[in-house]
Amino acid sequence: MSHDAIIVGGSYAGMAAALQLLRARRSVLVIDAGQRRNRMAATSHGFLGYDGSDPAMIASVARSQLERYPTLRWIDGSAVAASGTRDHFIVATSDGAEHPGRRLLLALGVSDALPAVQGLAERWGRSVFHCPYCHGYELDRGEIGVIATGPMSLHQARLLPEWGTVTLFANGALELDPQAARELSALGIAFEPTPIDRIEGHADIVLADGRRRAFAGLFTASRNAPASDLAERLGCELMDTPMGIQIRTSEAKETSVPGVFACGDVARVPHSVSLAVGDGAWAGAQVHQSLVFAVSAQTDPNRQSLTRVAR
Ligand SMILES: Cc1cc2nc3c(=O)[nH]c(=O)nc-3n(C[C@H](O)[C@H](O)[C@H](O)COP(=O)(O)OP(=O)(O)OC[C@H]3O[C@@H](n4cnc5c(N)ncnc54)[C@H](O)[C@@H]3O)c2cc1C
Repeated sequence: MSHDAIIVGGSYAGMAAALQLLRARRSVLVIDAGQRRNRMAATSHGFLGYDGSDPAMIASVARSQLERYPTLRWIDGSAVAASGTRDHFIVATSDGAEHPGRRLLLALGVSDALPAVQGLAERWGRSVFHCPYCHGYELDRGEIGVIATGPMSLHQARLLPEWGTVTLFANGALELDPQAARELSALGIAFEPTPIDRIEGHADIVLADGRRRAFAGLFTASRNAPASDLAERLGCELMDTPMGIQIRTSEAKETSVPGVFACGDVARVPHSVSLAVGDGAWAGAQVHQSLVFAVSAQTDPNRQSLTRVAR
């Protein structure tokens, strides 16, 4: 049986999309490899109604609510290949099975390329973060270290004095021009050019010259890319953003390949649970409407203007 929609990625964005489609009594197959982006974090902040909750709990409550709808099928596993055209897609899973579907929605999430600093990866989501709105408040206006990864780190450092006293570590990824140096100094941000040797303890930075600084928390701007290469393999256009690579979509969340949609972190910036849920809900409704109205939103001027108004 061909599903109305196959959603690859069953985290916040994918489940929010599935909910809209299920409530329209459409058949939905969700394929999910279970690697939520915030899986290392003990708490999730900033999502209305769930502030400070375990992110796994938020996902499992959502999944149990989806499972009440009889037109849902859920596969815990990986989609390893996808091909076809609008109304006739096939998604292959790692167990060798092939699943037909009329529309594809890629809610794949992104991977985080972290700076190669010893001790950083194991503290990611615990005492090393990327988003101050998610994890800044809990640092209690203490000492904050920012580990530079490139020019975006200047923006990150300039925002963070809202949450504490900031030191920006160049770590070989950033050089300050006189204008940037003046801006940092005006905001009370200290600049440390000495490279980092390692991170120890809760969030202690040990520099190459042996000096050690203890922090309430550290921030760094990871570079993102789609968590799997399905979009590329389907021929979807990708785009470069200051945070990395994402899938290009229309306002209706349709990719450059008709019938293939994308939502959540993989198809928008910036990133958060709230924004992924909102993007997913919008994408789910758009996938549904593409099933109702035969013409694609990309070629139907009436639907294009509707999506513009709705945004
Ligand atoms: C350390 C850390 C802490 C964070 N803390 C917060 C916070 O406190 N508050 C907040 O609002 N946001 C937080 N975020 C951001 C938040 O995690 C993301 O914005 C959110 O998870 C995006 O949801 P998503 O559904 O788009 O993608 P994801 O949650 O990344 O989910 C993508 C899903 O797709 C699956 N998938 C990918 N490829 C395939 C495939 N080929 N086949 C099958 N399944 C596949 C993955 O396994 C995964 O389950 C944090 C992020 C990080 C990295």
